[in-house]
Amino acid sequence: MKEIKHFINGEYVAGIDGRWFDDINPANGQKIARVAEGGAAEIDQAVRAARAALKGEWGTMPVERRMALLHKVADGINARFEEFLQAECLDTGKPRSMASHIDIPRGAANFKVFADLVKNVPTEAFAMDTPDGTGALNYTVRKPKGVIGVISPWNLPLLLMTWKVGPALACGNTVVVKPSEESPHTAALLGEVMNDAGIPKGVYNVVHGFGPNSAGEALTRHSGVDGITFTGETRTGTAIMKAAAEGIRDVSFELGGKNAAIVFAEADMDKAIEGTLRSAFANCGQVCFGTERVYVHRSRFDEFVSRLKEGVENLKMGWYDDPTVNFGPLISKEHRDKVLSYYHKAVEDGATVVTGGGIPEMEGELAEGAWVQPTIWTGLSEDSAVIREEIFGPCCHVTPFDSEDEVIALANNTAYGLAATFWTENLTQAHRVAPQLEAGLIWVNSWFLRDLRTAFGGSKQSGIGREGGTHGLDFYTELSNVCVKL
Ligand code: NAD
Repeated sequence: MKEIKHFINGEYVAGIDGRWFDDINPANGQKIARVAEGGAAEIDQAVRAARAALKGEWGTMPVERRMALLHKVADGINARFEEFLQAECLDTGKPRSMASHIDIPRGAANFKVFADLVKNVPTEAFAMDTPDGTGALNYTVRKPKGVIGVISPWNLPLLLMTWKVGPALACGNTVVVKPSEESPHTAALLGEVMNDAGIPKGVYNVVHGFGPNSAGEALTRHSGVDGITFTGETRTGTAIMKAAAEGIRDVSFELGGKNAAIVFAEADMDKAIEGTLRSAFANCGQVCFGTERVYVHRSRFDEFVSRLKEGVENLKMGWYDDPTVNFGPLISKEHRDKVLSYYHKAVEDGATVVTGGGIPEMEGELAEGAWVQPTIWTGLSEDSAVIREEIFGPCCHVTPFDSEDEVIALANNTAYGLAATFWTENLTQAHRVAPQLEAGLIWVNSWFLRDLRTAFGGSKQSGIGREGGTHGLDFYTELSNVCVKL
């Protein structure tokens, strides 16, 4: 049986009190590894190592050298691409086609992109007048924030974890990562890559465990952590923010969503169907900016629903290694229970089930996995919990609309503000509608098209702050203003 240990100060270590938990493959319910379970003691060791590393070689390393090492980390991931891919697919059950195109390449890119970006950030300077006429010069010095706590989810494990570790290290910080208990594999593997690349000990640390009363909570409460960057549920964000309030520690949050897609009368229907099949069903619907509410102009409603149904019924479920498979299981049976509770609620609230709505019949060992049918509903009123709450499963509800103003109000009628997607070939309409949508990420005629130099994050209850490009610098660094009297 494989063992996944903590990675502290450049070494793999078991927990202090020898506790372990199981890593389960959600495709067949089988145990794939036992994972060291950390708590306050292991977090303390990791934070101490990270603090010490700030004072060591890493803290005085010339920027060029630091950037070269981060490039080596990216190259190291790419050199072990297949190993990372297998680890990610076993932890999550996601199809190889997805992990090989998105998760692993982006995991590597996150180190290169932020190394290159940070190297080229200019500093601010202001010449000012003084009463005696000599003047003064102000300039800013950007310093690392210190030790960054990184808490990441299971839906895109390597991608979302490195999305934070990449900029944190590029800015000269050190990190303590608490990966999701559902997907500990790739964070652990990255430790070997860090060592091989020559990243000094203590710069990258990983402690496995759970959230409340476990490693996650301990990380948020440790006084040696200077900032906490978190991706996960909005409710968890609330708990972390309370913990971070002690010691006034900074937070950066990428949280949940209940994202709308709008299909206008002038949409290219081929593109809208292809895009919605991805936005609602890719990664078994477990993408933070995935679509769970679709609003379609009444003139195109029937056409949209019947074509989306056809597309959904052609999705192929199965073992991740089959190259024809494009639909995997949910992350766990517990998560399936949550998703199924919404499937039942939809029926109770009077939905028409266009397709799906239950558990599919899987053959052989896959029958023990966390499979669920991709599902489309129509007919619910806007106050149903199915329309209001994040489900995080492969499902969407489709509602007809009549006017642009009406659909903008419907799309914005949510506590969340992560993403919105709309489809129209009318350029004027596109530019008129986009700024009216209350979301941090707005896609027109596309979905999940990402340029890593751009701002990423959500408004309302979907997050605090923006990461991506240079937008995360205010979180990952501290600015000192130097005023020099001339
Ligand atoms: P989660 O909040 O349950 O867990 C995320 C991480 O937080 C895990 O590592 C978990 O162990 C840890 N955690 C849980 N409780 C904690 C606590 N009290 N203190 C400290 N750490 C704690 O989220 P999840 O189920 O892993 O991921 C799914 C959620 O993530 C969805 O809501 C989804 O929308 C969101 N998400 C958002 C984005 C984004 O960019 N906005 C991206 C991906 C996922």
